[in-house]
Amino acid sequence: MSKTFLTHLKCSRCSAVHSAGQLQNLCSCGAPLLACYDLAGAARTFTRESLRGRRRDLWRYQEVLPGSADAAVTLGEGGTPLLPLKRLGERHGCPHLYLKDESFNPTGTFKARGMAAAVTQARALGARKLAVPTAGNAGGALAAYASRAGLEAYVLMPKDAPPANQLEVRAHGANLILVDGLIGDCGRLLAERKEKEGWFDVSTLKEPYRIEGKKTLGYEFYEQLGGRLPDAIFYPTGGGVGLIGMWKAFEEMETLGWIGSERPKMISVQASGCAPIVRAFEQHKPESEPWKDAVTIAAGLRVPKALGDFLVLDAIYRSGGAAVATTDDEILAGVRTLARLEGIFACPEGGAVIAALPKLLECGVLKGEDTMILFNTGTAMKYLDVLARAFDVVSKD
Ligand SMILES: *Cc1c(COP(=O)(O)O)cnc(C)c1O
Repeated sequence: MSKTFLTHLKCSRCSAVHSAGQLQNLCSCGAPLLACYDLAGAARTFTRESLRGRRRDLWRYQEVLPGSADAAVTLGEGGTPLLPLKRLGERHGCPHLYLKDESFNPTGTFKARGMAAAVTQARALGARKLAVPTAGNAGGALAAYASRAGLEAYVLMPKDAPPANQLEVRAHGANLILVDGLIGDCGRLLAERKEKEGWFDVSTLKEPYRIEGKKTLGYEFYEQLGGRLPDAIFYPTGGGVGLIGMWKAFEEMETLGWIGSERPKMISVQASGCAPIVRAFEQHKPESEPWKDAVTIAAGLRVPKALGDFLVLDAIYRSGGAAVATTDDEILAGVRTLARLEGIFACPEGGAVIAALPKLLECGVLKGEDTMILFNTGTAMKYLDVLARAFDVVSKD
């Protein structure tokens, strides 16, 4: 039986050490905390071979996850397919193109991975009421996992967030608080109220374990590629949790002796209506500036200023990657292409990475021969309102 090798938490900026035995939010310096493991201890039994025959969901990586898989709040998250994109690959001259299709997750998006780990740990450490500011999908996932855990959830969402997200929050019996503003405004309101309300804040990067759930993306495709990493990863970036998580997973894998020092090029894809990481990348800055008047149909990318922007940019720079923006029209064309060429009906965030691919090939950052993994982070079914408009489906009433 495997167990966690979690030892402590460490600040991502000032390296201060914090206990993993109690509820934690940010470091006193204001930066996110990262979970640390006894990887030398874990390496004795945690090998690629040892994973054979384990459960299929993300708790198969128990040694490098918090809590205990037996006590996990789980809905079967993770274990999603890595699908070869043959027809799209032929169109672009890319014979080694893959889609990691995260629409298979509970609640229809990869937010399930992070929330499974965060809710598991929050409950184990005694939290009763969980609160999150969200562009949409994180709120839906929190509502589902909190209900599974028997905890209360408070979800603060822009009032123009996708109707599907508002609906699922209500369906799971969580408290939906609609805010006239964007995710940052929701976050400010949460910060004002949390002490009085007794909420534990599970905002993106403000607690340490959503990253841990999302880093399993990296462990999964390493296994799915037969024990190696791709040359490039295309990640639709809002708060950047998955990108930071995968980067952390690679470091852990190197310490475990699974890989060497090579890293995939990390490609951050944003929407041109909200592209703070892209702008910072183009100006070679270590941090982003808040994006004004953020608008895009890709709700998950509508994050004007990410708390972990410096970690996202660091991974991009150190990997020789890039950050690119795609317009909403390009995003919709990407959704259409994937649906028509490959039979996959992706969310707009997934459409964005499809649109980004030819841009990266044209500018020479990537070669057609490279092994590339594109992320579809959720199902189109959560965006029927915007997609219906784009595909000329008019309701007849
Ligand atoms: C949240 C979300 C993203 C962005 O993920 P981050 O890890 O916050 O960058 C992308 N796509 C979908 C569907 C999302 O819900």
